Amino acid sequence: MKKNKKKILNLKKIKKCPICKSKNLFVISNIKSKIKDIGSKFNLIKCSNCSHRAISKIPKEKFLKNLYMNDSPLVFGGAHSELRLKKDFIAGNFEKVEPYQNHWIFNYIDKKKGNYFELGPGVCRLYKTFFDRGWKCQGLELRSFIKAPGIKNDFKKINNKIDVAIAFDVLEHVIDPIKYLKSIKKKIKKGGKIFLTFPNSDSFKSRILKDKWAMVSPLAHIHYFSEQSTKIMLRESGFEILFIKDFSYVIVRRLIRNIFKLPLFFIKDLINLEFKNIINRLIEVFLNILDLIKGDQFKVVAKKI
Ligand SMILES: [Zn+2]
Repeated sequence: MKKNKKKILNLKKIKKCPICKSKNLFVISNIKSKIKDIGSKFNLIKCSNCSHRAISKIPKEKFLKNLYMNDSPLVFGGAHSELRLKKDFIAGNFEKVEPYQNHWIFNYIDKKKGNYFELGPGVCRLYKTFFDRGWKCQGLELRSFIKAPGIKNDFKKINNKIDVAIAFDVLEHVIDPIKYLKSIKKKIKKGGKIFLTFPNSDSFKSRILKDKWAMVSPLAHIHYFSEQSTKIMLRESGFEILFIKDFSYVIVRRLIRNIFKLPLFFIKDLINLEFKNIINRLIEVFLNILDLIKGDQFKVVAKKI
């Protein structure tokens, strides 16, 4: 860990847009991280040309890879959900992972079987879905506790001729998304498809909350994509976009339930003289409604050309 701390000072300032290469970058705000080693070292920056957002400095690629391999709190933020995920996976193992009954990506897949490749399959639910349907599955996962048939920890070990590649919540974590997509492309068959999800910087949450947006969390998330930067990124890396849409993680049912509960909470806040809570609750509901209109995530389907 001592070694890591020393190296983190070795950050490189971003001088041009990582996507469109424009030098017209400006600082939106300073990011105040709860992670001690991150502190206020990073600004949130935006490209005036393509609206891409990013953190102002990036670490070396090898250093970042090591953080993921060691489950470092610098990239996982010591998140409890991550620890729980690890525990569940070890307890349950791959055989017990529950596949999805259906998933939106099947609307874009014509083949019944083929070669499947997933980057960062995590708890492997989608991976298991394809595995159970008889697809030949490969996955790239740096976290060593995730073990399943076909999961490898080195990109070089992944076989070519992929029909379907998945990178959900991956591109925001990598230093150079275009370079990364180009290397995946080499493994995909011509006409093969790639499915992506990542944070949407055009969203209301991103634009209103700026560095307070939950997605802004160095060093885990480096990039926040606009629709324009997404289009440039995929064109530059040799893909044709078939589908792009924003989506929200807000669950409508839960939001409605929370709205109905508001008066009760207001009374509680008034009794406890917590006036600030009332404002915060209203803001949260308002932002979640906006998120349903323009969600803070993107899903993208693209084809190798
Ligand atoms: Zn740009």
